[in-house]
This record gives sequence, C-alpha cells and structure tokens, in this order.
Amino acid sequence: MNYYGDYHTHTHYSDGVSKVWENVLSAIDKGLKELAITDHGFNNPKYGALTRETFYLQREEIEEARKKAQGKIQIYQGVEADIIGLDGTIDVNQDELEEMQILIMGYHSFSEAKSKKDWFKIFPSAYLSFLIKPSKATIRRNTRTFINAIKKYPIDILAHINHLFKVDCVEVAKACADYGTYIELNAKHLNLSFQTLYEMSLTGAEFIASSDAHHFSRIAEFSKLEEFMKKAGFDKTKLVNYNKKPEFPRRKIRLKEF
Ligand SMILES: [Zn+2]
Ligand SMILES: [Zn+2]
Repeated sequence: MNYYGDYHTHTHYSDGVSKVWENVLSAIDKGLKELAITDHGFNNPKYGALTRETFYLQREEIEEARKKAQGKIQIYQGVEADIIGLDGTIDVNQDELEEMQILIMGYHSFSEAKSKKDWFKIFPSAYLSFLIKPSKATIRRNTRTFINAIKKYPIDILAHINHLFKVDCVEVAKACADYGTYIELNAKHLNLSFQTLYEMSLTGAEFIASSDAHHFSRIAEFSKLEEFMKKAGFDKTKLVNYNKKPEFPRRKIRLKEF
C-alpha cells in the first residue's frame, strides 16, 4: 500500500465521464482502501454540477457500489463546493453539510455568486489571472475570502490552492492548520512554487494528494505529482493519505457517526 485513498474524483454526475462503479473498480485495482466521489456542487452550471436531486440519485448508485464491492473498499459521497461570497459563503447549506461525508471547497470559474457585488469581486479577476496579474489588494481580498470559508464551514479539503484564484498561500495554510482543513496537492492543478510549498509546510498545515480524476483511469495517478514533490524536497510520507488512513478532523465535527 502506498496511497490509502483518493478523496477527490468526479463522475458523469458533473463534468467527469465515468460511472460511480467504474471509479470504484479502478480504485480497487490500484490498491486503494478508500475512495471519495466528489462531483461539483450545487451552484455551478458550467460544470454540469450535481443538483440537490441528483445528489440523492448518486447516493443510490454509491449504495449499490458498496454492496458490489463487498467490503474491498470504503466509498464516501462528497461534494466539491464553490466559493460564492466574499464572506466565505459556499454553495452548500447547513443541512446539506450533514449529508456529505467529504467536503471539498475551491474556486471554480463563474459559479452563481451570492450577490452581484460578490460575483464582480470574486470571478473576473480570477478568470483573467493568467493574463493580468492580480493586484495585491485582490490577493488580500481573496485570502480573506478563503479564510472566512475555512472558519465558517467544516471543510475537509481545500482544493487546488492558488489555481486562478490567487491567495497568500501561507496565510491560508495557517488557517488550515488552525482549523484542521487539509491542503490538497492536486495532480492536475498545482500552482505552487517550491518555496511557497516549503513555507506552507512550516505553518503546521497538513497536505493530502488528490487526483481530481474526471475519468476512472486517472484515479490515484500521482506520477507527475510525485516528481513535483521530489523536486520540491517535499517528503511524501508527510501526506495524510500516504501509507495511512487520513483522519479528517473536521468531518468528525460535521458528522456524528465519524
Ligand atoms: Zn476543482
Ligand atoms: Zn475536482
């Protein structure tokens, strides 16, 4: 066993192409002990996101997959939620938080924001960040927005930090360390310099590797990420899902049965 689980994967319920069972089979094949299905959440039509109704349809499919897997793997249902407000609001309400076993949060282009003002402050500068370098004021505002979300919600994993939505990664890492949110090293979107990763690791924040697979074949595909960690001098055994079962401290707060 190397990686215990992959906790960020998509299916056809959002912008992935595979069925729940295909993801599960692939995960079993790769020797994972746990898998989370985390399709895009409720306010993001661009990614063909889950609706509140399809969330329950997907749950039925996950229940069937659990029976078919006969205990070979633990399967969790989660959501990859969107930031939609400067005050840290995400597109999941309090009742829904108790329904999901993994809560991932990240920035995604053009979600439906809380208000017009929030939309203008959050989305255009991030969308254009590859063309126009965001100002220091924008980075400070984005940083506050993410920290607000981490304080406000029991987020298990912060997805692809610094991808488009530019933040002060060290400040966000400090909040993650204080609140028990894991910082994701995403196999697809990794926008961190070696130096930034090193400085983040000094805050006491913990890191998790995720594939963000949109096709079953990409599950637990960490070869490029491993190269990056090696070059960065980041010891992969420090990952919470390397050779051990991650605890998800914030899930324990959110869900009584954990
Ligand atoms: Zn994402
Ligand atoms: Zn994703």
